[in-house]
Amino acid sequence: MRSKVLSWVISILALVSCSVLLALEAGDELTIKDQLQQGSLVKGSICPKCQLVYLGEYLNTTEDGTFVFGLSRDAPSVIYLTLIDPQNHETKYSFPVKARVYDTQRIQGVPQRTVTPSESELNRIKEDARIVRSAREHITERTDFMSGFIKPVNGRITGVYGSQRIYNGVPKSPHYGIDYASPEGSIVKAPASGLVTLAHDDLFYSGGTLIIDHGFGLSSSFLHLSSLLVSLGDVVKQGDSIAKVGSTGRSTGPHLDWRMNWRKVRIDPQLVLESLPAKP
Ligand SMILES: [Zn+2]
Repeated sequence: MRSKVLSWVISILALVSCSVLLALEAGDELTIKDQLQQGSLVKGSICPKCQLVYLGEYLNTTEDGTFVFGLSRDAPSVIYLTLIDPQNHETKYSFPVKARVYDTQRIQGVPQRTVTPSESELNRIKEDARIVRSAREHITERTDFMSGFIKPVNGRITGVYGSQRIYNGVPKSPHYGIDYASPEGSIVKAPASGLVTLAHDDLFYSGGTLIIDHGFGLSSSFLHLSSLLVSLGDVVKQGDSIAKVGSTGRSTGPHLDWRMNWRKVRIDPQLVLESLPAKP
């Protein structure tokens, strides 16, 4: 008991000293207001004409110095950012990342071929992955994400980000989206404005699939759609009707699976709704 109390005190002290350090370090040069956690989208700002490097790559910044980047489901407990000022001086910053606990979800009744695909289906899955990768490859200077995000559909949440999935008894990769249960044919709205970079009506796992680029490497994907209302290359506005809910691909009933990426990193759309809500 005593050691437990002691470890609590130590971790509280560590937290306090961390945030003091963070406040001291992240002065005018680099500001991040929200606490970092696994799966979150981090938004912050740097001094004008400064540059920021994360994981060896420069981040896109707006003219006033706003940047975003995503933390993966299993992001480490500390991340590092390097700020380069206009005189080319480098300063390294560290930020603690809060760990999350993910649950396990068992799903019965998905088509068995989507759990144990055949040889030819495996080839199709590879090709699908290539199509999706290339849709997200190009990082644009769009800043649609700056206006914030709205929910793309109403409905009970039946699946969350990060949970370990077991389909028909077989463990598979974690789930990365929010699932909203919604009747077949319900209208899906664009959560933020953007450019349609993928409109495919039949991918193996995700069925009817749309990807919208919101700029700076941020994109939304919409899965299991019954029909698409926009085409590749279209520019959509926040709130526009973009698709209809369906149950295509690896699915057991009509629902919308909304996912978000920052570059190749899968982030949690639910956290994005909280940290970057649309301005009223
Ligand atoms: Zn899903």
